[in-house]
Amino acid sequence: MNCKKCFFNILLTAQLGFFLVLFFACTQKPAVEKDRPNILFIMSDDHAYQAISAYSDHLIKTPSIDRLAQEGMIFTNACVTNSICAPSRAVILTGKHSHINGKIDNHFPFDTTNITFPQILHKNGYQTAMFGKLHFGNNPKGFDQFKILPGQGKYYNPDFITKNEGNIQVEGYTTDIITDMTLDWLENERESDKPFLLMYLHKAPHREWLPAERHFKEYLSKTFPEPETLFDDYAGRGTAAKTAEMNLLTHMNWAGDSKIYPEVMDELGIPETSNWDKAALHGELGRKTPEQRAAWDAAYGPMNEEFKKNYPNMSKEDLMRWRYQRYMQDYLGSIASVDEGVGKILDYLDQNGLADNTIVVYTSDQGFYLGEHGWYDKRFIYDESFKTPLLVRWPGMINPGSVNTQMVQNLDFAQTFLEAAGITPPNDMQGESLIPLLQGKNEDFREAVYYHYYEYPSVHMVKRHYGIVTEDYKLAHFYYDVDEWELYDRKNDIHELKNQYHNPDYADVVKELKIKLAGLREKYGDSDALNQHFIDLYREAGRIQ
Ligand code: CA
Repeated sequence: MNCKKCFFNILLTAQLGFFLVLFFACTQKPAVEKDRPNILFIMSDDHAYQAISAYSDHLIKTPSIDRLAQEGMIFTNACVTNSICAPSRAVILTGKHSHINGKIDNHFPFDTTNITFPQILHKNGYQTAMFGKLHFGNNPKGFDQFKILPGQGKYYNPDFITKNEGNIQVEGYTTDIITDMTLDWLENERESDKPFLLMYLHKAPHREWLPAERHFKEYLSKTFPEPETLFDDYAGRGTAAKTAEMNLLTHMNWAGDSKIYPEVMDELGIPETSNWDKAALHGELGRKTPEQRAAWDAAYGPMNEEFKKNYPNMSKEDLMRWRYQRYMQDYLGSIASVDEGVGKILDYLDQNGLADNTIVVYTSDQGFYLGEHGWYDKRFIYDESFKTPLLVRWPGMINPGSVNTQMVQNLDFAQTFLEAAGITPPNDMQGESLIPLLQGKNEDFREAVYYHYYEYPSVHMVKRHYGIVTEDYKLAHFYYDVDEWELYDRKNDIHELKNQYHNPDYADVVKELKIKLAGLREKYGDSDALNQHFIDLYREAGRIQ
């Protein structure tokens, strides 16, 4: 290379560099910067809509979460595409169904070659941060800052994987720590010249439901109304409901879930429900400081003593009722701290002039059974786990006190947030922007949603199934080791107790829904061949023979 050419190359490189600097300066600070909304995405884990007072106040009052309904919009038919923790997060971040983004269950790690909406927002000048539970088996991409719990995380003195400080352990109660980290970022790391995406993601109220010390006394002394279907015998339903292992009486851990001390179980001759029953309690209590453990024993010791006294005279029905109350005390006690945390964050937005230009979303990664059908946990296409809470506040865009009944899905968040930021979403995202709905325009939204659950055989033994849900009906196909269809009439059987698939009166409905279901499977790129592919993956991983 001669010197002249060399000089031109240097000049060209310098010019290119100058234009690159100019280009990035432009993309990072567009003229409309001030108008682009901040996004605060709040998600808890396993938070049933039945346990938010904006939906129903029969179990708990959640005044801070309710603020979002009063000042924004509550969605009464929001649902998920696959009712389980990590897959729901993958759907939210990618805007694609599980069979496309590949995160079908909690076991296989998330494929980080997927493009997520935070990466796109980040590339377009948003400052991005994530605090709390991700549960992907790897770190999030596209974040300026993150502090995430490893796996499921713990309720006390949790470990965190952080972007800048390596792995750390923080003393205290996890829900409060995640709130404090979020507030600290808003106060000390937020760059006021950029819009932000802030993901504030609680572990609570995920199993094993350990409340904060300040809530022990109140919740341990409460009694809650029982659901109508607490003693469901599953007679009107298929094999999947009958064989699922999520019954409060027979499948819940005595130590891990109901917080009976292992020595009390031994004394009463109660065997472990699962091989991790006692270990689950130890895994949480073993992390506590002596002071935290003393506070726990002061509250849960008397409960154990009372149970020891009563157990010999309790019938199966008494035990079912007792386990329901015990479950609700800890589950709802865990939510009390979530609501307080949400209140603190909303107050911060108010006090710092951020409320007006911030979209605030509150949701859960799916719904949850609170004793309905005798169950805890999730996974099924049935309403309590299929539906999820969704409340959105966006001043100037949403009329305060709005109620929306459309069938929106967690699949829709990615496109909604990108459009809110003025970005055209990638063509391969599969949701619908919720912005017209937020503006009160309800016409032409989808009439049916698609659902597909995969994690079987696995904990809780809920069989693989896919299905279609409309406002009036729900049709599901359970497969792999069964071949059963179920149809529920959502308007006339709100608890979904009677499978109408074989009822001749519904033959036309079944026929029509099967055509629509096939249409949805084609639209979203799902197929029997993919079903087999994901079964093969289980076989290759040694999870089935
Ligand atoms: Ca969950």
